Order: sequence, then structure tokens, then C-alpha cells
Amino acid sequence: MKDICLDAIAAAHGRGVTYADARAVCIRTQGLHTEDERVSSLADTESVGIGIRVLLDGAWGFAATSDLSREAVTATARQALAIAGANRALRRPEGVAWCPEPAHREVFRTPMATDPFTVPLETKLDLLLRVNGAVLAVGGVRKCHSHMQFERRHRFLANTDGSVIETETVTSTARYTATAVNEEGAKTRTFEATGATRGYEHIEGTPLLEEAPRVGAEAVEQLSAKPCPVGEMDLILNPSHLALTMHESIGHATELDRVLGMEESLAGSSFATIDQLGSLVYGSPLMTITCDNTLPGGLATLGFDDDGVPGQRWDLIRSGILVDYQTDRETCRAIGASRSHGSCRADSWASVPIIRQSNFGLAPGSVSLTPDELVADTERGILIDGMGSFSIDQKRQNFQFGGDCFWEIRNGRIAGMLKDVTYQALTTRFWGALDAVCDKRFWQSVGVMNCGKGDPGQTARMSHSSAPCRFRGIRVGGAR
Ligand SMILES: [Zn+2]
Repeated sequence: MKDICLDAIAAAHGRGVTYADARAVCIRTQGLHTEDERVSSLADTESVGIGIRVLLDGAWGFAATSDLSREAVTATARQALAIAGANRALRRPEGVAWCPEPAHREVFRTPMATDPFTVPLETKLDLLLRVNGAVLAVGGVRKCHSHMQFERRHRFLANTDGSVIETETVTSTARYTATAVNEEGAKTRTFEATGATRGYEHIEGTPLLEEAPRVGAEAVEQLSAKPCPVGEMDLILNPSHLALTMHESIGHATELDRVLGMEESLAGSSFATIDQLGSLVYGSPLMTITCDNTLPGGLATLGFDDDGVPGQRWDLIRSGILVDYQTDRETCRAIGASRSHGSCRADSWASVPIIRQSNFGLAPGSVSLTPDELVADTERGILIDGMGSFSIDQKRQNFQFGGDCFWEIRNGRIAGMLKDVTYQALTTRFWGALDAVCDKRFWQSVGVMNCGKGDPGQTARMSHSSAPCRFRGIRVGGAR
């Protein structure tokens, strides 16, 4: 595939071409689903092709093919050039401020102990069916769905910088949901081996089966839980929950193409405009958000992005102040940066690379603080675990979140389960209310598997990390 990429670059290089790249990708995906005591679906697919991008006289052209013959690839490169030529009529007057990047000739592979594609289907299905059995053994549970998903992405990237990059990343994830039912309705509880760029050892290292009785029991307990109170309360949010709140209120708001108005499909633009860079008070002084596309196991730890830029680590928000964005080679000049942070990815060989969220996380607290001590220090509040519903406006400012499971805190103790909890806030007001973060012993990464963006829509994956933390005086309730 490397030679095919080099052929494509040779064919796409011509008069007026500022930049061209060719990305040959082979993606194998395996998905296993079970429902109660049966296998409900099995899929094992492979997708192979090449995408070619050219920047000609300040306009982009892109074309892709699954035919990897030299003739087809050369024709596709010419097609990309023709599309760029046609797009010249639509280019912006200032053109594209394409940022330089040194040539890289490297191979990157995510480390793993056990290739999940070598583990027999019977072994994987046996684990899922045993999990379902253990969940269904809990009185009151009526349903259990479980699944595993594995992906291997083998990519060659060549570009006119002289880069020739080979990467191979393997992703593993598993999850299950227990559903309990009574005459008043149904409640669910979910547990997962959160998505990670690791092998089958990631599944084996997660206590899926061991936790099944607790997960089933918590689904049942929710049926008789008290309804969510209405008013202002302190919230303690676990990493499994905060990942989605960070994703929506920080991640999408700091994608620089969205901030610049270049990409508003699906998730809107952003309140965090570039004139506020270095001055916008995003949250409390405890809020330091660091991107890290070198994070071991992170879903966006891919070695290089699709612009040929290596994975990096940088602060987005430092002590509550917005200090940077997630950038690609097309946008980074808009904030005066001399290099892209490498956040540009496509979901397949047939898609155009766009800015996607990096792995990022909230820095752990610098003083010793355990989750139990945090609860003991909270007079009246709610502890939230896991992800639930979410809604946020097109500027990423005004939001409402649910969760997977909720407990009331009274006088420093857990005082039973609540149900149907939602909270509402403005992004900067919410992050301004952050007043305690547990220390690094409790810092965890949580994978987001299905982030949607772009038009035509693309999905991407990334990890968000944090320790349990507390937000003071957040409005809860009022929604079902
Ligand atoms: Zn998203």
C-alpha cells in the first residue's frame, strides 16, 4: 500500500499544487452482540481503499477509490485535481493558510499483549453469555444486552512534504446493560470496559462478570428510587459521567474549525471565540484541561493525524483560562500558531479529514483527596455515575445532562438512590462552580466511541480523563 500512496502523490503533484496527500487504509471491524441467552448478531467486516487530497491554487479537491490498481489510483488522483480546479470558484478570498510540517518517516503501532482478532469467537461469546446469565439471575432484571467491538486500522500516509507514515491501531471495547422492569416502568444500568487502543487484555482486565450482580441489583434499585429533587445542589461527578459533559461543553467548543465558522454541521459553532484566547474565564482556577494524543490506551492515540502531524500534548485551559484550541494545518495560523496540534482525522479512506477531538482530561487535584472524603465533605448533593441523555445549544453554552445512576448525599453520607436526575447550567457557570477534584490515584480515562461531526457525517473516537470532582450549587430536576 505504501507504493500505491507514492504513485498517487506523483500523479497528484502538478503546477499550482501546494500540497497533496494519499491515505491508504484497511479497517477490520468485529462486532458481537448478545441478548439474554442468545447471540443476536455477529459481524466481521473489512474495508480497504485510498483517499487522495490536493490543495490547488488555494482550493481543496478530494477523491477516493476502493480499486487499488495503479490505473484506478492514478485516475482518482486526477479526479481530485479536477475537483480542486472546480472548487477554485468557491474558495475564500484569503485562500488556505496551510501550515508547514517537517517530513516524517515512521512506523507507529499501539502496543498490545493479545490481538483480539486471534481470540476465538466462542471465547468472546461465552464471556458475554455468562455476563448475561449473571445479570439475569438478579431478581427483577428482565433483560440483558451485551456486546464487544474490536477494530484494527492499518494506514499508510504519504504526502508532498516527503512524509511516509505507517500506523496500526487496535481498539477494544465491551459493555452490557441490565434492564429491570416493574408495573411502573423500566430502568437500566450499564457497565463497560471503556474503549481503549489496547488488545484483548483490556477486556480480560475489566471485571465484566464480577460486577454483573451489582449492575443488575442497581438497575432493580432504581425502580424504587426517589425522584430527583428540584433546586440547586452540589454535584459529585464520576469520571464515567464527566467524560460526556467535558466532551460536549469543552471538546466541541474548542475545535478551531467550529470556532472559525468553517464547520457547523451537527453540533453548531462555539462561544469560545478567538478574540477571547488568553482571557476567557472558562472555569474555576482548579480547571486545567490538557490534550494528550500520546496518552497510552487513548482512543485518539494514533501516532500521527491525517495531516501527517505527530500526536502531541498541550493545555487547552490553564487554571480556568482558555489558552489554546484543537487545531489542524489549515486552521492553526488563525491563532498565530506556527504548528498544528495534530487533531485532523477522517473516519475512513473515503472521508475528508476534519478536526476531531483529541484525548483530553481535567488535571487531578494537587492535594490528597479520596472520593469517600469528597462525599464526607458534602452536606447536600447528588453523586452521578455513567453517561445518560444530553442536550446543548449550538454555541455549546446552555446544557442539560442526565446520567446512568444517581445517589443522594445528605450530611456527608450516601442516603439512597435517586432516579431521573438531570442538571442544567451554562458552560462557564458550571465550570466556575468546580471546587474540588480528587487526586491522581482516582484519575481515569473514559472512551467516547461515537462522536458525530461533519457533513456527510463522520464518527470518531477519543478518550476523556478526570478524577471524581465536585461542582457547587448546580440546578437539578425539572425534567423527566
Ligand atoms: Zn462529539
